Amino acid sequence: MKCRRCGAEAVIELPQHRTAFCADCFLHHCRNQVRRSIDSYHMIDNTERPLVAVSGGKDSLAAWDLLLELGYQADGVYLGLGIGEYSDRSGEYARDFARQRDLTLIEIDLATDAGFTIPQAAAQRRTPCSACGLSKRHLLNKIALDHGYRVLVTGHNLDDEAAVLFGNVTRWDLRYLARQQPVLTEQDGFARRVKPLVRLSERDTAAYCVIRGIDYQVEECPLAAGNRHLGYKELLNQMEERTPGAKMDFYNGFQRRMRPLLDSIATKEKGELNPCDQCGSPTTGRLCAFCRLTEQTTKPGRPAESSPR
Ligand code: SF4
Ligand code: ZN
Repeated sequence: MKCRRCGAEAVIELPQHRTAFCADCFLHHCRNQVRRSIDSYHMIDNTERPLVAVSGGKDSLAAWDLLLELGYQADGVYLGLGIGEYSDRSGEYARDFARQRDLTLIEIDLATDAGFTIPQAAAQRRTPCSACGLSKRHLLNKIALDHGYRVLVTGHNLDDEAAVLFGNVTRWDLRYLARQQPVLTEQDGFARRVKPLVRLSERDTAAYCVIRGIDYQVEECPLAAGNRHLGYKELLNQMEERTPGAKMDFYNGFQRRMRPLLDSIATKEKGELNPCDQCGSPTTGRLCAFCRLTEQTTKPGRPAESSPR
């Protein structure tokens, strides 16, 4: 099998693109895919200094590396979730990556900053992944704004986005579908959130890290068992096996064809936002969802605030 770009011996086949590449041309392909996403969705201006949310896993480290390769002066932020040794090791991978390249890595810790860990939130009968996602969204946004970053980058790849889309479609959840975009625009109290890896699959980011010599956390999070999205990923992988490119068609078709319809829903559903009584973040209720989670976890037994967000 030959590389389609240069004719050398290929090291990776990409059935979804009906092509194969040698190592150098594969890296070129990955940079190209990220460049296309950034440009077509207006994710990051050339003058901006993005902040990359790094977990120590392959996707976020590949995202950081790709942005640096494309010429962005990107910094990183690592949030310690307190998931035992898994979090300890994840933090080490993020720190090593930054140290080896002399990059700025901001570190925050859920236990120190909010007084609880994800296993403690899970013990209060919260689904660990929903408490975790909510904490990440809130604290990473806050840290970006506090440090003056206008754009926050996450490592969500095509497999992640297609799985979330699949879940939202099975429930016909229009509110969530309307919000599922590769760019969430900047507004008062929110940094712009961008996902430049939406054109790369999980297999692509793993291969990218191997070829670039990036060490990453390969262990699965011990709290992931039962996560619905893992099941959706398996289903989509079966589809992809039978019809290469199906995942990409599913996700890109949604963004191209459904986006204009959903944008009007998103605009209509926007509630009026006020500052959270506790932390000042924009919310439709008295307390934002993160402050309610913090109260429920650190002061169990108190009745939960019943605001819509
Ligand atoms: Fe958080 Fe769930 Fe991911 Fe574990 S699997 S890091 S709990 S979102
Ligand atoms: Zn709050």
